[in-house]
Amino acid sequence: MKIDHSFSPFTKINSKWIKDLKVRPETIRLLEENVDSTLFDISIKRIFSDTMPSQRRETIERINKWDFIRLKSFFKANENRIETKKQPTNWEKIFASHISDKGLISIIYKELSQLNNKTSNNPIKTWAGDMNRHFSKEDILMANRHMKRWSSSLIIREMQIKTTLRYHLTPVRMTKISKTNSNKCWRGCREKGTLIHCWWECKLAQPLWKTVWRFLKKLKIELPYDPAIPLLGIYPKSLKSAIPKVLCTQMFIAALFTIAKTWKQPKCPATDEWIKKMWYIYTMEYYSAAKQNKIIPFAITWMDLEGIMLSERSQREKDNLCMTPLI
Ligand SMILES: [Zn+2]
Repeated sequence: MKIDHSFSPFTKINSKWIKDLKVRPETIRLLEENVDSTLFDISIKRIFSDTMPSQRRETIERINKWDFIRLKSFFKANENRIETKKQPTNWEKIFASHISDKGLISIIYKELSQLNNKTSNNPIKTWAGDMNRHFSKEDILMANRHMKRWSSSLIIREMQIKTTLRYHLTPVRMTKISKTNSNKCWRGCREKGTLIHCWWECKLAQPLWKTVWRFLKKLKIELPYDPAIPLLGIYPKSLKSAIPKVLCTQMFIAALFTIAKTWKQPKCPATDEWIKKMWYIYTMEYYSAAKQNKIIPFAITWMDLEGIMLSERSQREKDNLCMTPLI
């Protein structure tokens, strides 16, 4: 994008360019009301030529004579610039509507931060492209809700923010940014480091996901082995039994966080780390539930998983982490 900080055909008649000519405000208003608002609309060919349409003559005659001379010479001098018909650039679309330079920096800042959002803040689209899949509007809505779903505890919020940030920092993307790094998976598996590879397909990440599904099976939760579920929170519509989505989401967030933590290390994200994270979430949720007198729904949600987590950890680790049953 080219920044052109002077006027264009799309600049408004009440902009500083015209005001600087010391044209009276009444004249500007007259033109706005009876002709139109951009320089292109009030150009020399349309207004200040001798062959102008008769209905406009009346307007012209009402313009103060000095203003008329000033405007006519301005349009004459800038004829080429104003008369050239072209598509407005992005900058013109944004800035031609602002009548002065007042607050321009904050306007630019706002526009730039929006541009930034548009390009980088749509992980779902990137995911869909990477997974070579199409998600329906409903699916995307579900995924967005999943991303924004904050739990009662701060720890989950923090994990979600950290993992969401990582969504954007894949080797493929970094190569595009810095143009020097290799676009291979940072775990060293020599595969191309796409979003779906780094979070799901990588042979170093797969063991953890297999473990997650093993836990789900123990909990008698039947879910297809599909990356869209843990990564985007898109659950298939046709499920045999009701799925405790809250619990699943906590397990998936803990797994994503475990993967994010070893993002650049040539090793598998460890099951122990994952259980440790889940146990942490579990304790936080417990205190939060206790405070709100919601122990029973909490117990219903976590009871089975508590037992599985305890049985999967060695006694020494349980002592280290103070993993004592809460329910
Ligand atoms: Zn890999």
